[in-house]
Amino acid sequence: MQTVVILDCFTVEPSGLGVPPYLSTYVRNAWSALRRARPEADVRYVTIDDVRWCLVGGKPTVEPPLSDRLTYSTTVNRDTAIQLLRDAEIVVVIAGNAVPSVHLHAVNGSFEEIARALACTRGRRYLLGPLSTYALASPVEYAGLFDAVHTHTVTSGDLLLGSRRPADYEQTRRERDSFTGLVEQMPWRPIAELELYRGCTRRKFCDFCNEPAKSPLVAFREVEDVVTEAAQLYAAGIRNFRLGQQTCFFSYRNRDEDAIRALLGGIRERCPELEVLHIDNADPLAVAAPVGLRIAKLVAGYCTEGNCAPMGIESFDPVVIERNTLTCTPEILTRAVEHVNEAGAARGPGGLPMLLPGLNLIYGLPGETHGTHVANLRGLAGILDAGLLCHRTNVRLARAFPGTPLAALGEREPLPSAEHFPSWKADIDFTWDQPMKERVYPTGLRVPGLHSYFIGQGGTWWRRLGSYSIQIVERDAAVPRGTTGDLVVTGHAPRMIYGERVASAS
Ligand code: SF4
Repeated sequence: MQTVVILDCFTVEPSGLGVPPYLSTYVRNAWSALRRARPEADVRYVTIDDVRWCLVGGKPTVEPPLSDRLTYSTTVNRDTAIQLLRDAEIVVVIAGNAVPSVHLHAVNGSFEEIARALACTRGRRYLLGPLSTYALASPVEYAGLFDAVHTHTVTSGDLLLGSRRPADYEQTRRERDSFTGLVEQMPWRPIAELELYRGCTRRKFCDFCNEPAKSPLVAFREVEDVVTEAAQLYAAGIRNFRLGQQTCFFSYRNRDEDAIRALLGGIRERCPELEVLHIDNADPLAVAAPVGLRIAKLVAGYCTEGNCAPMGIESFDPVVIERNTLTCTPEILTRAVEHVNEAGAARGPGGLPMLLPGLNLIYGLPGETHGTHVANLRGLAGILDAGLLCHRTNVRLARAFPGTPLAALGEREPLPSAEHFPSWKADIDFTWDQPMKERVYPTGLRVPGLHSYFIGQGGTWWRRLGSYSIQIVERDAAVPRGTTGDLVVTGHAPRMIYGERVASAS
């Protein structure tokens, strides 16, 4: 039987995560297209971790019991990965970071690794995912590496030709059927990333953002289409879902409360024993609106606990907001944070708040001065002083993604964050993140239903599956991966908390 291969080198975008255990829309899209295009073929799912495993001689790159972030997500195909790549008629590579990406348990495939993996192939090679934009922007660097490039989606019809626009949702619906054979190749509990729409619903776009360049027009999926895909995934054994592949969950179908109720209710009905239902991405403008509060209540009511609505204020500095068309002011953000707290701060049966806001801050945007950092610290202190809860905060440096107004500015004079970012980030860690962790996860809180997932130098890391799930470190312990347990919170750090195991979860 002819073999075709999906080589998942993992993807990270502002809207959409494709790092295991997340099962990305790209992987599922490639699976469906390949099954349609080659119905007789054996479609194999291989990760860059499988390739690394083979290249170092069939073993991890660190000594057990430490977990190896380079080979953490190997599949059932890990021992034959190179052979599969060599013999495949087609290899679809899925790769690319549209935003900086750092993970405890994973390292996304680099350009060099992808080139090395493809060096052994004899079949045709196609690229899908955010790396496509870089490949098209740097044709010399990528010359000869791929036979065709797909920027958004791949279908059975355009597989050989490449594509620069997304397939319409009706077409992807027609191509989709069972995911069972795909999920069976993943020896982990996947969390399926689901897409609700493409594009950004704002009238004015933020200058740094690649989403409007990626999808200039907004296109919504039908509720039934999303629910049916969730049901197909559920039938394949998936029990964890995140509605995260869109720019703002609250803006689905233009903030249509009834559609969102039908969506969440439909998933609950068709996937009755789901374990995780979370969302990702929230535009503070939508959340701060009166309908935003009502939608937040729907999310808190239908989704599972520990959920997060991350919102991009990006900067509290009015000069930076103005210069970069960020639109959201500190006042709007505060109202949005209040709405999410009102709807979701109550704790669920597992001890975690149902839904909390997350915050995104970006340094390195035009207009930045030392005063920008002061404004950010003041803005965060205001939220803390108001007694509000926040799940997590992401602070990063701007990256000029090809096609954005920020990239069009070209080389710029270095901004203060070029020198001060590490210390500014540390300021936020200790004046905001850590006190907030202490508030949301107080010492003595018992967190049940955790599983161990990574053994590092400092101990074992525990979490639940979910969106930005809280990481609890059991110090000086090496607990086998996948062990279940309850931990009691004993201490706090900016990015994680510490705990002691008290009992095995039932
Ligand atoms: S609101 Fe701004 S950051 Fe969010 S998707 Fe739209 S343009 Fe991008």
